[in-house]
Amino acid sequence: MENKKVTIAGAGLVGSLLACYMAKKGHDVKVYERRPDMRKTTIDGGRSINLALSNRGWKALEGVGVADEVRKMAIPMYGRVMHSREGELTNQPYGLNGEAIYSVSRGGLNALLMDEAEKHSNVSIDFDQQCTRVNLETAEASFKSYSTKEITKVEGDLLFGTDGAFSAVRSSMVKTDRFNYSQQYIEHGYKELSIPANADGTHKMEKEALHIWPRGSYMLIALPNPDGSFTCTLFFANEGETSFETVNTLEKARAFFKEHFADALELMTNFDEEWENNPVSSLVIIRCFPWSKNGKVALLGDASHAIVPFYGQGMNSGFEDCTVLEEIMSQHGDDWNTILKEFETQRKPDADAIADLAMRNFVEMRDLTGNADFLLRKKIEAKFSRNNPGKWIPLYSMVTFSDIRYSDALKEGQRQDRIMEEVMAMPDIHQNWEDPKVETKILELLGKY
Ligand SMILES: Cc1cc2nc3c(=O)[nH]c(=O)nc-3n(C[C@H](O)[C@H](O)[C@H](O)COP(=O)(O)OP(=O)(O)OC[C@H]3O[C@@H](n4cnc5c(N)ncnc54)[C@H](O)[C@@H]3O)c2cc1C
Repeated sequence: MENKKVTIAGAGLVGSLLACYMAKKGHDVKVYERRPDMRKTTIDGGRSINLALSNRGWKALEGVGVADEVRKMAIPMYGRVMHSREGELTNQPYGLNGEAIYSVSRGGLNALLMDEAEKHSNVSIDFDQQCTRVNLETAEASFKSYSTKEITKVEGDLLFGTDGAFSAVRSSMVKTDRFNYSQQYIEHGYKELSIPANADGTHKMEKEALHIWPRGSYMLIALPNPDGSFTCTLFFANEGETSFETVNTLEKARAFFKEHFADALELMTNFDEEWENNPVSSLVIIRCFPWSKNGKVALLGDASHAIVPFYGQGMNSGFEDCTVLEEIMSQHGDDWNTILKEFETQRKPDADAIADLAMRNFVEMRDLTGNADFLLRKKIEAKFSRNNPGKWIPLYSMVTFSDIRYSDALKEGQRQDRIMEEVMAMPDIHQNWEDPKVETKILELLGKY
C-alpha cells in the first residue's frame, strides 16, 4: 500500500485515535488542533469531565494496542443505581453476565491517545491551529494560529475532519451540491456539578455504578472519578415551567434540589459555587451525507454524526468509525475513492440508528427507570435471555456490550418492543412474571414477529 500524506483536523478523542490507526498503516500523518496542548496547559474541556466507555470503544482501542493503558484509569460501572425522591435506592445491573461500562476521564483519555499517536515517528500534532478553509478537490487545508494569526496551508493526499460537532471541514462540504445536512438542538441542556470525595479519598456513594435520579422530564446522573469524586450532570429543559429559565437563581436552585434531589444535594458540598459558575450547555444532533468528497476528504466522529449523550455512545461510535474504516482500508488497498464511499455507505445507517436510540434512551433514563412496569419488563427480558441464550439479547446489551451493527440492534429492539407490549398486557403480570407461561408466550411471539 502506498504511503499517503494524511492531514487530520482536530485532535479530540476520535482524531487522536485515527492518527494512531493511520500511522500504523504507514501513512505520514499531520494533525492540527485548534486548542492549546491539553497536556501542558489547563484548559476548560467545555463538557463532560468523564464519559462512559463500552465495548465498541474498547475494541477500537485494542486495535491500536492502548486498551490496557486505558483500563488502568477506568472505573467499571456494573449497573444503574436509581435514587428516588425519598432517597431510596434501586439497583439494576447493566449486563446479564456482570458486564460493565467504564467511567473514564475525557481529558485523561484524550491525552493518552495523543501520547500514543506521537510515539509513531510518522505522526506530528500541531496545536493552536484552527482549520479555516478546505479545498475539497485537492485536500489542501488552511490552519490559522490563534496566537500569531499566521495562516499555514497544508497539502496532502487525504484530509480527515475530526473537528467535532461544529466541524469546519464539514462547513466546506455543506456548500456543495446535494449535500444533506441537519442540525437539531434538543429542548434540554445540561449543567455539570460534583460530589467531592470523602476526606480519605473514598467515594461518597457506591463507586462502581452510574447513579441516576430519574424525575420524568428531567434527570440528574453521576459518574465516578478515580479521585473519589463524582461528576454529576443535570439534564434539564432550557425553557418552560420547570427549566434553567425558571430555576434561575441560586436560592431557587437549592430549593429545587432540596425538593427533587435531596440526597444528592447533601453530598454536593460545592453546590453554590458550581451552580453559579458552571455553564449551561446545549445538546445537538447533527446528521449529514455524504461524509466524503472526491476520494480525498472525509468526516469521522461528531463531525459527521453528533448525537445526544444518553446512550453513552457518541465517543464509542466515533471510535467504531475508526475500526470500520480500518477494516475497509484493509480490503481496498490504495483505492481511496472506494474506501471512503464504502465507509460512508456502510456507516451512515448505523449513525442514524444510534442517533435515534440515544434519544429513545433519554426517555428511558429520565422517566422509565423509575417506573415499576419498566423495571419488571427488564427483569422478564433478563430472565428469558438467560434461559434462552441466542434467542434474546436485550437492546441495551446489543448496543453497549456487542458490536452488532447499531441499525440491526435498533430493528431487533423494535421487534422486542412489540413482543414485550403483549407480554406486559398479560393478566396480573406483576404477580405472575415468573410463571412458565410467560416464557412460553415470549417463545410463541418470537415466531409471530
Ligand atoms: C455531556 C456529554 C456527555 C457525553 N458522554 C458520553 C459518554 O458517556 N460516552 C460516549 O461515548 N460519548 C459521550 N459523549 C459524546 C462524546 O463527547 C463525543 O461523541 C466525542 O467527544 C466525539 O469525539 P470527536 O473527536 O469526534 O469530537 P470532539 O471530542 O468534539 O473533538 C473535536 C476536536 O477538534 C478540535 N477542533 C474543533 N474545530 C476545529 C478546527 N476548526 N480546527 C482544528 N481543530 C478543531 C476541538 O478542539 C477538539 O479537540 C458525551 C457528550 C456530551 C456533550
